[in-house]
Amino acid sequence: MMWGRRDGRGALPPPEEDLSAPTNPVASFSMLRPIALEDGISALVDVSLRQRGVLVAFTERGGGVSSGPFSALNLGMRSGDDRALVAENRRRACAALGIPAFVAAHQFHGSVVRSVGPADAGARFDLGDDVVSGADALVAGASGVPIAVTVADCVPLALVDMAARRVAAVHAGWRGVAAGILRSALAAFEDPARIEALIGPAVGPDHYEVGPEVVEAVSAEAGRACVVEDGPRKPRLDLPATVERMLRQLGVAHLQRSNLCTACEPGRFYSYRGEGRTGRQALIAALL
Ligand SMILES: [Zn+2]
Repeated sequence: MMWGRRDGRGALPPPEEDLSAPTNPVASFSMLRPIALEDGISALVDVSLRQRGVLVAFTERGGGVSSGPFSALNLGMRSGDDRALVAENRRRACAALGIPAFVAAHQFHGSVVRSVGPADAGARFDLGDDVVSGADALVAGASGVPIAVTVADCVPLALVDMAARRVAAVHAGWRGVAAGILRSALAAFEDPARIEALIGPAVGPDHYEVGPEVVEAVSAEAGRACVVEDGPRKPRLDLPATVERMLRQLGVAHLQRSNLCTACEPGRFYSYRGEGRTGRQALIAALL
């Protein structure tokens, strides 16, 4: 029996995963890496997708021009921050990522998905407004049309179909999940088994106490919400785990999830639960 190559070199390839790493299967297979970009901007970028011509980036809050509770790279136009500063932050984020201006939607915690094309690219980007009204997921199938959703605790979800050259950016809070945003976003794709899904930093179960009405509403759509109950504390919703479970139930097999909690990391992420008046980070997705 012959092991390795015929020339005798490299009998076995080195293990691709560090076996001493934490045993959480999601974390150990994650290809999301924190990347330091220009102007002090950082983002979690999927390095594998990037090599294959698709950008999926979850921005962090350093490097922008906003101050106070919005410091610094606030990308949310409706956060209460000066819109001119947000527009400048958006320009800087796109420049740092090497992409043209992204298309963003006026999000409303619903289940509406909108497709955007070259005609929408960058439109009204600098005017302190979002070009697409009333949508919590954007889908793009053309190069040069980056899409974004902005979040501060809600789950930012990217869906990529490499074969169809199609990407979606989804804003999934508990209301959106209960309203069916995951189902409607998946409906924009031909085959869920072909999708690569990425769940970015969001509020974790340690910081997300909810009432029974929230658990009930999410469970009605998602099958069963992932809830943590221990001791005297109120039940806590694990929203990222709930999103993962529902995606898997709907046939998505390739899925990775950041384990970062936005409320645990105020230096890196905005958290509505943690801070109240605050900015928004973004999930930005683009076919390059
Ligand atoms: Zn936390």
